Amino acid sequence: MSSDAWEVVIGMEVHAQPRTRSKMFCGCAVAPLNAPPNTYVCEVCLGLPGVLPVPNKAAVEAVLKTALALNCEIPRHTKFDRKNYMYPDLPKGYQISQYDLPMSVNGSIEVGERKVRIRRVHLEEDTGKLIHAGDKLHKAWESYVDLNRAGVPLMEIVSEPDVRSADEAREYAMELQALLRAVGASDADMEKGQMRAEPNISIRRAGSEELGVKTELKNINSFRALQRAIAFEVERQKQVLESGGTVVQETRGWSESEQRTFSQRSKELAEDYRYFPEPDIPPLELDRGWIEELRGALPELPSVRRARLATTLPPSVAVLIGGDRDLADLFEQAVARGAPAAATGTWIVNEIAPSGKLPSPENLAELLRMVGEGSITRDQGREVLMESVETGRTPAEIVAEHGYAQVSDESELRVLAEAVIDANPKAASDYRAGRKQAMQALMADLRKRAPQANPKVAMELLLKLLG
Ligand SMILES: [Zn+2]
Repeated sequence: MSSDAWEVVIGMEVHAQPRTRSKMFCGCAVAPLNAPPNTYVCEVCLGLPGVLPVPNKAAVEAVLKTALALNCEIPRHTKFDRKNYMYPDLPKGYQISQYDLPMSVNGSIEVGERKVRIRRVHLEEDTGKLIHAGDKLHKAWESYVDLNRAGVPLMEIVSEPDVRSADEAREYAMELQALLRAVGASDADMEKGQMRAEPNISIRRAGSEELGVKTELKNINSFRALQRAIAFEVERQKQVLESGGTVVQETRGWSESEQRTFSQRSKELAEDYRYFPEPDIPPLELDRGWIEELRGALPELPSVRRARLATTLPPSVAVLIGGDRDLADLFEQAVARGAPAAATGTWIVNEIAPSGKLPSPENLAELLRMVGEGSITRDQGREVLMESVETGRTPAEIVAEHGYAQVSDESELRVLAEAVIDANPKAASDYRAGRKQAMQALMADLRKRAPQANPKVAMELLLKLLG
């Protein structure tokens, strides 16, 4: 049977770490990545007896902003629940999460041309981390636990099973990352563990309304891995079903080194966790005035901004800049200071985005003016830009200090052009004999002798002298 006859059905669960200074239910600071193990802990996040958790308002606010940006409904009441299970990275024996009264429900997000429904966005706490150390020679295996992450806030964004391909899942996660950053809810850096995706995947015969048996992939921490892991899993399920087998509902991991998914454990059901209301935290009644205030303060969302940028920029440039709040702000502020839109877009995409360092809009506008007027070359502009970002000094100061300003003075450049022709008699005669590409060698020598020479004026002089 043709494999085209299958439809892919994917639901996405994404965990993102709200941008907060402290943990979810205690005063501990959120540990930096390289902090020594177990140095950001207290009796609350260690789950010692007799302590009381207090919800972090900044984390609640981050969830509400995200939910509003995703067009979710915010119910009047919400509560926390205990999800009970035993694992060494969870000293309390339960995780504080949200079960039947999440902070928000029924939203949606535009992914390309399609709308993906959002089932809920809720708030919970992270667990610790196990570190497995082994000594193969002596067959001694030890595991350590680092509880720095225990109690760090996490929001979980759950979609309806509306995603239809591995590529679309990747696009969904990227759109979500841009949205989280735009509203300031999370830095959502996957490499730093601030965002991870857990897609659940099933396939069914095209046209069927019934859902197939799904598998869930755990803790995918890059867009590339997400796309590949889903593509692998879809192919695996097709092979199982087409050879007459059945897909087992289970949790699977992704092996980056082997580029395949592998079975981890059979899927738990909600009843396995024996959820019950967290007795130490009263249900929250969310103030409607606060919610409306947050709604009113939402910034322009990435999809809207992208559409607006696409009116002045080529689509590929608009997509890149519009998907990143910092780049989009820089673009608009530099243009507001008189920088031309097209050149600003090109410099942001080619120079600034890859370097990961942002100049001030004033400095970018000043630099682009100098390059545009020809008072420095593009190559010099690149160096000045990077130096300006490193030091915070203005491009004009840097150009003056390096003596970069381009020489456009004709009499000075004429002497230079004559010297170049004298020093390269072969190239000069080749050019006169009609081999136009010989000009490249002459210009290369000229630039080597005088990097600050204005190339346009210098080339005109060479042409005149050779003509
Ligand atoms: Zn703590």
